[in-house]
Amino acid sequence: MAASITIRRAIVAAARRLNALGINQGTSGNISVRRGKDMLITPSAVPYERLRPEEIAEMPLARESGKWKGRRPPSSEWRMHLGILLARPDAQAIVHAHPPHATALAMARREIPACHYMAAVFGASPILCARYAAYGTAELAAAAAEALEGREACLLANHGAVVIGPTLERAMWLVVELEALARQYLLSLQIGGPMLLTREEMAATRERIAAYGPAPPAGNRR
Ligand code: 13P
Ligand code: ZN
Repeated sequence: MAASITIRRAIVAAARRLNALGINQGTSGNISVRRGKDMLITPSAVPYERLRPEEIAEMPLARESGKWKGRRPPSSEWRMHLGILLARPDAQAIVHAHPPHATALAMARREIPACHYMAAVFGASPILCARYAAYGTAELAAAAAEALEGREACLLANHGAVVIGPTLERAMWLVVELEALARQYLLSLQIGGPMLLTREEMAATRERIAAYGPAPPAGNRR
């Protein structure tokens, strides 16, 4: 516990910030951070204002073991966090949220196309909407990992959104940017829909933007 206290505190602060920003509400969403062969993950159904660092659960990064250590059981979405961390060695942190605008798009099972240059920070366009699967299931874990291929974010049909990052700080930045992008896209749909950027324009932006934002992936730091 002592060795992981800094990460636990960072997870609690991030969880509270998500609620303060209106990205999450109530007990929705969850956060995990990789730590060696384990993951630290928010407990299930604990309101973030009441959440304490010692209540963050610890689970081995082993497929479907379901074993956990701690004072409270892990998030019901532990399979999704585990599956993504196993599939994506580049991911150190995962933020799952139900942000209102991103979730509105997810409820309509819409993707987010290359409607703004900032879409390039999430990797390939469009940002995909993972097929529907019940919350907490292995099916949802598989659908999310698939929709994240080549990307740092995806929507979850009739549910919410997931972002991954090489640090928790970057994942937090990305989830805020994702919700802003979703809101802007929804607004533009109300006035006839956006003009989309071309494949070439997005490729050029992806190159420019690779080192932008907090803690960009190691290979992209300038
Ligand atoms: P937990 O409280 O179990 O983390 O569940 C919240 C959620 O968003 C489920 O998808
Ligand atoms: Zn959820």
